[in-house]
Amino acid sequence: MRNKSTIVLPYINAVIIAFICIVQIYILSKESLSFNISMGEHKVYYYGQIITLFLGTSAMTVIFVKESLDRVQKRNAYTDITGIMNKHACVEQMSILDCRESTLDIGLAMFDLNNLKKVNDFYGHEEGDRLIQQFVALLRQTAEKKYFLGRFGGDEFIVIIQNCEEKGMLNFFERISKETERNNRSSSIRISYACGYAISTREHYYLMDELLKEADKRMYENKKMIKSGELMKTNQISKILDADRVNAAEKNDLTGTFGHDTFVSTVEKVLQIYNSNSRLALVCSDVHNFRYFNDLYGHKEGDHLLRQFALELNQQPFCLCSYRLYSDNFAFLADLSQLSEEQAVERIRNWNIQFSSMVDQAYRGSRFIVNSGIYFISDISESVESMLNNADCARKNSKSAFNHIVVYSEKLNQAMKLHSDIVNSFQRALENQEFQIYVQPKVSCGDKKVCGAEALVRWQRGDGMFLSPDTFVPILEQSGDIINLDFYVYEKVFEYLYNRQLKNKASLPMSVNVSRVHLSMLEDFMERINALHEQYPIPTSLITFELTESAYIKEIHSAERFIDCLYAKGYRVSMDDFGSGYSSLKALYPMNFDEIKFDRAFMKKDAAEEEEHLLIGLIKLVKGLNTTIVCEGVETAENVKLLESSGCDVFQGYYYYRPFPLEELDALIDDMSS
Ligand code: C2E
Ligand code: MG
Ligand code: MG
Repeated sequence: MRNKSTIVLPYINAVIIAFICIVQIYILSKESLSFNISMGEHKVYYYGQIITLFLGTSAMTVIFVKESLDRVQKRNAYTDITGIMNKHACVEQMSILDCRESTLDIGLAMFDLNNLKKVNDFYGHEEGDRLIQQFVALLRQTAEKKYFLGRFGGDEFIVIIQNCEEKGMLNFFERISKETERNNRSSSIRISYACGYAISTREHYYLMDELLKEADKRMYENKKMIKSGELMKTNQISKILDADRVNAAEKNDLTGTFGHDTFVSTVEKVLQIYNSNSRLALVCSDVHNFRYFNDLYGHKEGDHLLRQFALELNQQPFCLCSYRLYSDNFAFLADLSQLSEEQAVERIRNWNIQFSSMVDQAYRGSRFIVNSGIYFISDISESVESMLNNADCARKNSKSAFNHIVVYSEKLNQAMKLHSDIVNSFQRALENQEFQIYVQPKVSCGDKKVCGAEALVRWQRGDGMFLSPDTFVPILEQSGDIINLDFYVYEKVFEYLYNRQLKNKASLPMSVNVSRVHLSMLEDFMERINALHEQYPIPTSLITFELTESAYIKEIHSAERFIDCLYAKGYRVSMDDFGSGYSSLKALYPMNFDEIKFDRAFMKKDAAEEEEHLLIGLIKLVKGLNTTIVCEGVETAENVKLLESSGCDVFQGYYYYRPFPLEELDALIDDMSS
């Protein structure tokens, strides 16, 4: 910083020289106007005047050019790479203010970025620099023009405000806090800072050095508060966590997270210490479509990703301890104290987005998404198992949620009640013939003729409620009742085809769905199918059994034996819902499915170009397996157009037919064969 005399001196010089020049010009003009003086007599004097004038103006130019060069040079010397003042400039500014008569009403705020070191270590220095730039941009955006902004250290910033009132300072803090929150919503890396301020008043008069010390002291108090408030890792809890980390009897070999028993006992211990005002949650998270990731990048990268997930998760300030339930499913105990429920959800969501975008950057176009279910703990006497169940129940629901995050709630509880109602009323409903068989025709891509139909079950309950299979099939799978329901459907389909055969009417190949539950009961299944076939002897090639991709992948060996048995009897087998989240292309090769049915999720209305490319690419790959390709969920002419060009063989979807009662199928087949 420059003092007044160094600023004023060049101007005084310039004024003196300008005065001399003006005098010269005046003399010259007077001389040239006086006709009675001959040129010869005054020639020397005349040129002398001109040279003096020239030297004068040159001197003035030199002074001003030098002055502006000095200014630029000095500005550069005082500016940090972030564009605000550097430490040297801060110290000078403070000494200038100290030299004034008084430092009354000067306010000094200090900010310290909380996570810069972590960002540097985990994301690299470039990201760290970006974080600093982002914070400086926030400071500039929220500070008034008259504020002095400076970077005092690597991650420390000061703001000096003259004529400062406490209210103005607090307003400034509020503005920057709001802008930071807004920034964090969209930014991949969160900005978090500690801050403190001091104002020199009549009651507490400070010189600049003292102001700095006081603001610094308060900033560190704030930092400590953030740590104890936000993390709530009190000494006692830290000790438990650290001891458990070291002594953990079982640790997940892949991700290094706790094993189940250690996690449960740690959560129990930690809950005993927390007070009732804390906001604690059990969170279950998984990776959406993790199988795709394995398919696209290989299992080694998949493992690396899971390790990275665990590592990053445990770095989050809110994560007290974590546990990998299985595969890509993680559970963790989160301390979200000091936050409202809404903010707490936002905090978890931000971390999910942050991790997803990090993966997206590393593996371009992986469309990586983290799903989370949150269970806010209200009663610490509840068993950890039950908390885990609730969080996991919310997680399952989060897959279809708009922002991939669901909080366990009473509504979910209601859904669970429906769950038990379904299980309890099933047997009576079956006896009362409440289940109806619907069919949805399949259309051949070439001639657009109906080439088959899928049987789909519906539940018209006695109380008037109409339930779709998506509601009750998963529940009946859990209870095991699906076995009887499936055979109820199979019998209706066999019977239908047999009746047409008896009447010498044309037949249509029919598909039926196979629950994964049958896979582990192969003998029983084949026994019942054989019995059905004895009762209704139809050509077995008319029946296609649809086995979902998830069922196949989860129990690949029993699935293969199951399929072999069906082939031996001449039935056809289809892989249903291919690509719905578990597809492992490798797993398709040893198995020769008659048909692969692409899941309806591929037929999104607003599918991005990359998604269409993915679908076309997958169809091409599967085409190599010499199998019939069916696409479900064909709803629009655009879907048809895309699929026609991609090599799909058969369409199934609302664009052609919505499912309708089995009885109405006769008319369609008769119509076709007439
Ligand atoms: P799925 O086997 O993949 O059946 C296709 C589902 O897609 C049907 O839903 C059908 O109505 C729906 N769908 C067909 N075209 C379109 C379309 O253009 N747009 C949309 N949005 N949806 C379309 P549904 O009938 O609700 O069945 C759902 C799932 O329930 C079935 O999926 C199947 O996994 C299961 N399911 C249905 N019936 C049975 C059954 O008898 N036994 C077993 N185990 N599962 C069944
Ligand atoms: Mg199906
Ligand atoms: Mg399907």
